[in-house]
Amino acid sequence: MYFAGIDVGSVASKAVILDGEENIVDYAVMPGLPSEESAKKIYDDLLEGSGLSASSVNYIVATGYGRVNVSFADKQCTEILCHSVGVNSLLPSVRTVIDIGGQDSKAIKISPAGRVVNFIMNDKCAAGTGRFLEVMEGVLKLELSRWGEMASRAKNTAAISSVCTVFAETEVISKVAQNVPVEEIIAGLCESIAMRVAQMAKRLPVEKDVCLTGGVARNMGVVNKLSECLEMPLLVSERPQITGALGAALIALRNYRDHA
Ligand code: ADP
Repeated sequence: MYFAGIDVGSVASKAVILDGEENIVDYAVMPGLPSEESAKKIYDDLLEGSGLSASSVNYIVATGYGRVNVSFADKQCTEILCHSVGVNSLLPSVRTVIDIGGQDSKAIKISPAGRVVNFIMNDKCAAGTGRFLEVMEGVLKLELSRWGEMASRAKNTAAISSVCTVFAETEVISKVAQNVPVEEIIAGLCESIAMRVAQMAKRLPVEKDVCLTGGVARNMGVVNKLSECLEMPLLVSERPQITGALGAALIALRNYRDHA
């Protein structure tokens, strides 16, 4: 028996397959728009990679911004619920989940059982989301996968004061023109997004332990700056970008078990 979670996000699709013992059999991450095509492709790729047939998967849960496009799913769940369930299974001590994705960010208070108690969301302003980093990746022509290591080499943090992504872009260009080391600009950009997200999360308020999930958690520059802004350590799971898909797969398994 196998169970699948498919997270069709705003900039990337993620999928996880679990066996009946809640072990991850395989997973996949694929950039792309939240379309029906992305949903089908990631699931087909995952089945092919794991050598499983569609008929061996007993239950599928879809989540993410494009979850309505997973026409073959048995159930749809919100990302808020799926991230909470995913984090709770990996890091049971966590009471606050902060998820920074491509298009929004959320702070979620969860119970010891992984239930959602309360949440705050920013989907209005790009500055506190992965979109901000993607715009700056384009400006600096430096892949986000290198940012964590580069930020760690910065001797100083270049202050990026603009609240708006478009003005921050102008500020970055002017810092490049003033020969500010690129590592320091990157550290400043990581600090800028961290400050916005911390401001939002503090309204929850933040209760320990705190975990950062979503694709932006792959950027250690942001992880370290957010930890500084919140003045507490942050837990990050091994593959933070698939946490929502993992939560969806766990819900699939538990739903199937409860109704079997
Ligand atoms: P969504 O669910 O909205 O599609 P994700 O949770 O998949 O978003 O996160 C996407 C974001 O993750 C991107 O905007 C980017 O900032 C970040 N990201 C993705 N891969 C990496 C990487 N290898 N290193 C650093 N950041 C990454």
